Amino acid sequence: MPYQNEVASKTGHGDIIKNPDISEFLEHCEYMDDASEDLGKKIASLYEKIELADNLPEKIVASDASRYCEPINGKFPSTQIGYVKVSLMIIEVNEYNSLKDMAGFVDPFGVAKLHKNAEPLSFVLPGSNVRYKKASSVNDGFRLAIYENFISNKYNFYKAGDYNIKDTLFFLHEQDNKLLSIHKCPACKHDIKHTFTKEQDKINCKECGADIFFSDALRLHEQISDFGDNNSAITRFMNLIEHLLVAGFIRFLYDKAPKRLSNLAFILDGPLAIFGQPARVHSRLMKFYNSIMTDLKNRYTMPIIIGLQKTGSLNEHANSIKNFLEPNSYKIVDDEYRKKYIFGTENSDNFGHETYYGQDFIYKSKKGSVFVFAIPYPYDQKCDGHIFSNQKIKIENYAEILPRALKIIEHFEMELYENSITPIALAHRHVSISLVPGGKALDLLSKNIIECKK
Ligand SMILES: [Zn+2]
Repeated sequence: MPYQNEVASKTGHGDIIKNPDISEFLEHCEYMDDASEDLGKKIASLYEKIELADNLPEKIVASDASRYCEPINGKFPSTQIGYVKVSLMIIEVNEYNSLKDMAGFVDPFGVAKLHKNAEPLSFVLPGSNVRYKKASSVNDGFRLAIYENFISNKYNFYKAGDYNIKDTLFFLHEQDNKLLSIHKCPACKHDIKHTFTKEQDKINCKECGADIFFSDALRLHEQISDFGDNNSAITRFMNLIEHLLVAGFIRFLYDKAPKRLSNLAFILDGPLAIFGQPARVHSRLMKFYNSIMTDLKNRYTMPIIIGLQKTGSLNEHANSIKNFLEPNSYKIVDDEYRKKYIFGTENSDNFGHETYYGQDFIYKSKKGSVFVFAIPYPYDQKCDGHIFSNQKIKIENYAEILPRALKIIEHFEMELYENSITPIALAHRHVSISLVPGGKALDLLSKNIIECKK
């Protein structure tokens, strides 16, 4: 996703606000604005100082995803192909450190060399007005393309198999005692109750004959229409696929090299949450991460998973109060804080009940930048919303992870990218420039972690 919000506008911001209809309308609105001195101080008093951990992980795996919808030819601009690119890259922490000079500046040419592990993965989907492989509708073609992406071994972390996206999905559901089921044919809407298995991952509708796939259980296709704009379905796909790829990689490492996994940190772009139709996957991820963390904590140490948020209202809020905050202080974002200070927060007993698998934090670094990031909830399920609302903010449950996560954020903070940290910036840059189709990328990633000297 882009770092700076570039909002193209035909009219300057000032002109719109000067319009009398709009200024009158605004008189009746409350909206987020800079905090007053008093409010800023009050908010700052809710923040606490924290001691960072001393040591860093051996490697950092950063992911970044972008989506595109492009017209297929100039004559028919609404006939589009959609694609999503995900870059997973590994930063060797020692290698990175050797590029820093005494003053802490990083050699940009050296950093560019660290790109070598990042070959972006491309997922192609039909956009509007495109019927894929003679499907009877845009929707059916979209479902087929999702299925093909999910079963493809291009996205397998292990040559011998069992670690592609389909494997990850079935695994995540099984460990949470959940099923991949459908209740209706996605093509003709006829009632069909069916649960998929890994062995039989598609069936035929007896009513209309259409293929029905296990991936239809995620309902990504529901936002697709034959004539409309399919951007939001592609955005949902991008969100889901990034989290599934990281989960798949973590599962692979947990099975094959748990000790190495415990020495890694993973940084995802955005909150730890799955939005829209496939949102339920969030609770499977929460359970999975909690189970491996609990196990690795007893055997070695816990790997770090961070969702770094670069945009959104929480981020804007954090920046607006930045000057009131002490360096090296943090706040666990509880529901009360969110309701009081963040506009546009959903009204529920437990923020993110249907979508989030990680807890948000705000941190102001020693150098003075603010970061909004999340760490997975250390629970295997969410109990009643109101109770979970209190449970999720018990800081003692993050006591081991938080100082280590902050150490990573502090270490990789780079002035060049405002409030970004380097691995994400690199992954982003890489996603933006490379047009190489990713085929061997995952295999290379796996090899890098497993085969390096132990
Ligand atoms: Zn049907």
